[in-house]
Amino acid sequence: MDFRWTVAQTARHARAVFAASVLFLGFLPPSAGADTIAAVEASDTGQFAAAGVAGQLDFSSFGRRSGPSRYKLSIPVPPPARARPLPRVQGDDSRPLVVIDAGHGGVDPGAINAESGLREKDVTLKVAKAIRDVLLESGRVRVALTRDDDRYLILRERYGIARRLKADLFISIHCDSVGSGDATGASVYTLSEVASDKEAARLAARENKADVISGVDLGDAGADVSSILIDLTQRETMNASAGFARLLGREARPLMPLKPNFHRMASLMVLKAPDMPSILFETGYISNPVDAAFLDSRDGRDAIAQSVRRAVEVHFARRMAAR
Ligand SMILES: [Zn+2]
Repeated sequence: MDFRWTVAQTARHARAVFAASVLFLGFLPPSAGADTIAAVEASDTGQFAAAGVAGQLDFSSFGRRSGPSRYKLSIPVPPPARARPLPRVQGDDSRPLVVIDAGHGGVDPGAINAESGLREKDVTLKVAKAIRDVLLESGRVRVALTRDDDRYLILRERYGIARRLKADLFISIHCDSVGSGDATGASVYTLSEVASDKEAARLAARENKADVISGVDLGDAGADVSSILIDLTQRETMNASAGFARLLGREARPLMPLKPNFHRMASLMVLKAPDMPSILFETGYISNPVDAAFLDSRDGRDAIAQSVRRAVEVHFARRMAAR
């Protein structure tokens, strides 16, 4: 055996292995899509390229003595967050779309009732489904849920899903919580960079923490968020959100317990879509035994769902009339 050839061939193999390692280690082209297969080709020149094309696992040219050696290795690439499949939209195509976001989920339980162990993530999912069912029954709107099972979504994914679906209204469902069990009643939040009061600021701090739970660095939002903040000068979206919040208060008051100052404002990450009216509905205090029992009952969920349905119907009837 020619020693020099062996060294050269070994080096070539090492390069192929290195190229494969690069893929395995996650140095993937950012453009790689959900169902893309990335292929690496290692050639005699020692150069390799990663490309978004389908290929076959093919080591047949390994060990060939002459001619250009080409190695192909194909690995399914995990989808980037942005390419997550969109949730199902239900309802008549001609109708406006309401996206309901069940707060928290997966590794993030949200607030927990200290005595019963009732978790916010379970309550919000049941409430979101109840709202979906009632809205679909009314036939006036289409509906999609950001999640319909116990999964974790970062906050930007939540409104991101709604934006990709071109939603006309975004409603994020949550339950409030405080140390003492006394606080009671629902409230609704719309976006403002300045919180309307101290409690609103505390709530925003707590809800915005949802991303930290899975180790997502909020700082990486960078340019994305700053451009969104600039877009927020779009008064129309903020006015439409506030208008819907007032309507929800009007329609909900006869049906369920509300806080006296129902509509409040805070810098809530999940409401930061610049072009889609968005509210965060704190449906009651999971820390309060009476509220918790209401939130965890069929009657309670139905009252919340009917409140939202009435407000949604008036909201879109007004928008149609204004055209
Ligand atoms: Zn929450």
